[in-house]
Amino acid sequence: MQNNYPLTKIDEKNYAEGYWINGQWCNQTKIWIKNNNEINNEINNENIMYPTPKPDIEAVSKEFIDKLKKLCETVFFNTNINLKSYMGNSYCRICGCENKNKEYHFKSGDITFKMPEGMFHYYINHNIHPSKEFYDFVMKYDINNIDYKDSDLLSLPINKLTFILEFFIKLKADKKVIDLITDIILFKNRTLMLKGLKGIEFTT
Ligand SMILES: [Zn+2]
Repeated sequence: MQNNYPLTKIDEKNYAEGYWINGQWCNQTKIWIKNNNEINNEINNENIMYPTPKPDIEAVSKEFIDKLKKLCETVFFNTNINLKSYMGNSYCRICGCENKNKEYHFKSGDITFKMPEGMFHYYINHNIHPSKEFYDFVMKYDINNIDYKDSDLLSLPINKLTFILEFFIKLKADKKVIDLITDIILFKNRTLMLKGLKGIEFTT
């Protein structure tokens, strides 16, 4: 029987959401051709194939998508969320469109989920429903209680810092955090201004 459940358990603590069956898109038939002999070798001793996405009529919960988007936005400053790039784009198994090449890793406690960035396309365009495990993980994730990548803040450009500041203000975060980011933005602005002044010749 075909497996359509989007979750793949790698081990007790590591899960992959939206890792679909390998193969390639056929432009003539407009269908995804599976490599039947290609197995999921990430899982030890088990020849499990990745699932096949099955579109649904019913839309995926907006609450879930909004929360997941919010979680992804914290990637700039949340120690427990990371985005990794891979070579080459992934292609949608249902419509064949190019579907991004990055992967999110979400950690909470000792559980880690990885999810391709292109998963949003499946949720939104094809009504692929999240696994119960991932749905619960996302909905329970406490966005107010995150570990900050504070050492990274100084290296971010002002536009990203402004984005983060707005995010925290919307979240009604701790005043200390808001003040810290505001200070960094002011510091960066001043540095830019000083750089701009260099090279200007003053005439008397
Ligand atoms: Zn598609």
